[in-house]
Amino acid sequence: MSGLLAGLDIGGSKVQAVAVERGGGAAGSGRSQVVEEVRLATALGADGVVRTAQRALAGLAERLGARPPELFAGVGIGVPGLVDPERGVVVQAVNLGLGAGELDLARRLRETWDLPIVLENDVNAGALGAADHLGLGEQDVAYLSIGTGIAAGILLAGQLRRGPHLAAGEIGHVPVDPAGPVCACGQHGCLEAVASGSAIAARWPQLDGRFPSAGGGGPGPAGALFAAAAAGDPEAVAVRDEVAVYLAAGVRMLALTVDVDLVILGGGVAEVGEPLRAAVADQLRGQAVGSAFLRGLDLAGRLRLAPAGTPVAAIGAALLAQPLP
Ligand SMILES: [Zn+2]
Repeated sequence: MSGLLAGLDIGGSKVQAVAVERGGGAAGSGRSQVVEEVRLATALGADGVVRTAQRALAGLAERLGARPPELFAGVGIGVPGLVDPERGVVVQAVNLGLGAGELDLARRLRETWDLPIVLENDVNAGALGAADHLGLGEQDVAYLSIGTGIAAGILLAGQLRRGPHLAAGEIGHVPVDPAGPVCACGQHGCLEAVASGSAIAARWPQLDGRFPSAGGGGPGPAGALFAAAAAGDPEAVAVRDEVAVYLAAGVRMLALTVDVDLVILGGGVAEVGEPLRAAVADQLRGQAVGSAFLRGLDLAGRLRLAPAGTPVAAIGAALLAQPLP
């Protein structure tokens, strides 16, 4: 068996799979190195998800010229939803069409290959992958994923904070506008309902189709919104700034709750890149003008972007599969 780890990020439309060599990055960086990568469309439903994971692992292994059990010391899988890492079970994942029942994904995959398999929430996996890729060591980090929904993965001294109810970092469901729209969770004006990729798409519909959705490899409606705002469209500027105010509130919540060193902006909306970071940083600076307390915390200076075009959730999932020494 080689020392490679496999990581899968199973999303509602596609799966990203990577084979990772631990500590194989630039000399002395200690970071992991992606040695092979496969992308597939996700088949939905319990059987579809199992089959998709099998195909992704088999595809990676085939490119590397061996069978999965001969290649991989462990397999990590990131899933969008509620995951019980202890039991290796997906408790709930609406976007994967699993319905009401749990999916015993680790056991189902082990029926085919005798491999250590770990499951993790995809945002938590993204936090680990982004921190590894950025070389953050054991700094305290929050990874704010802004995609179809909003959630954060929190790393304290390099360890994931999941919480006893697996709800740590679920700040997408903290209401930030009591008069805001009803959220999928039943509350009003959640952060997710006013600042996620879905919320942006509702407020800034893409009529010209110039910015493919995040699933298609582009920043989607958020890209269209930021481009229009940069071109001076006053309506776009207003929507962009309002979204940035809400995202700044999310960053402030994270920083004031756990005092992380860095907040990393990730997810499909963060593919907008520097203009997104700059817009949120501007709002944080503006909010600090009248507050010596906030100025002293320099929240704007703690913002980072997730590495562009890097499958951080798949990498993080692979790192979680590392066998204990
Ligand atoms: Zn909500």
